[in-house]
Amino acid sequence: MLTVSNYHYIRDDFTTPYPSIFGVTPTFFKEQLLAIKEIGTYITPQELLENYDEVIKSPTNYVLITFDDGLKEQYLKAKPILDALDVKALFFINSLNFIEKEVTLVHKIHLLRSQMSTSDFFDILKKFDAKGKTQLSDKEKKQAVVHYNYDDEETACLKFTLNFKLSLQEQHNLIQTIFDAHFDSHQVVNDLYMTEEHLIQLAKEGMLGNHTHSHVPLGYLDRHEIMKEFVTSKNYLEQLTNQGIPYVSYPYGSQEACASPVDEIAKNTGHQLGFTMERSINTGNEHPLLLKRFDCNDLPLGKNQKAFEHAHRLIH
Ligand SMILES: [Zn+2]
Repeated sequence: MLTVSNYHYIRDDFTTPYPSIFGVTPTFFKEQLLAIKEIGTYITPQELLENYDEVIKSPTNYVLITFDDGLKEQYLKAKPILDALDVKALFFINSLNFIEKEVTLVHKIHLLRSQMSTSDFFDILKKFDAKGKTQLSDKEKKQAVVHYNYDDEETACLKFTLNFKLSLQEQHNLIQTIFDAHFDSHQVVNDLYMTEEHLIQLAKEGMLGNHTHSHVPLGYLDRHEIMKEFVTSKNYLEQLTNQGIPYVSYPYGSQEACASPVDEIAKNTGHQLGFTMERSINTGNEHPLLLKRFDCNDLPLGKNQKAFEHAHRLIH
């Protein structure tokens, strides 16, 4: 069987004026790697690819570590720890950050929200929103609170507005305008994302994967757009590194984001292993292009490790 643990931000200090960037510290990362070692056996991406059936059906709990979004801190803070423990991981990259030197939408939102309160952010959204789509009716406010039941009302309304009231394009345009007023995109790209040298080194070690071009939920796109998302980044990474990239992780990774025909197009564009964010252990019943994956918080020492314990119990 195969357990996959996924990471995003990894930094020593998560302090910002408003907490909106969440992740783990390098110290936690190392401790978690050691804790996972107690319950599983690390496998390299290549070993998994070459012995897929054997691994997935084995009673041994094989473990693969992955990182999404191509953040520089992953290379600088996590890779030295992986190297010291002799663990090989997969790092999934969006080519938008390299080809267009653009910041990914989700990171723009994280950064903006780290610098302003939810109500200030909402006010600015309303100011730039000429179509009045950010005005929620009482009924929509109720829907928002029900849908985002872990958030306070204001945050719930903000998330509802961004994700349900605005089209993907409207969301992009609006956030872009606000982001440009507060941040220097070029500087953020330099600070936040890996360099091409980092990508080349990862590819040499068999640790590079595709996270699509622009980090949009693929399941909402048409076939042509899905294909373009896969191929743009795959071609970019393969040409840069001179290596084949058979691994893909789907942005957001939810069921909707990975809905058919996403897996089929992933396969047709030359991917062999695909990773979702459906939290569970892989035991051989899943399609190799729709592998399940835990967030690191679900695993030992994580804030929500019960998710893993539950999945583990179902299998044993
Ligand atoms: Zn991502």
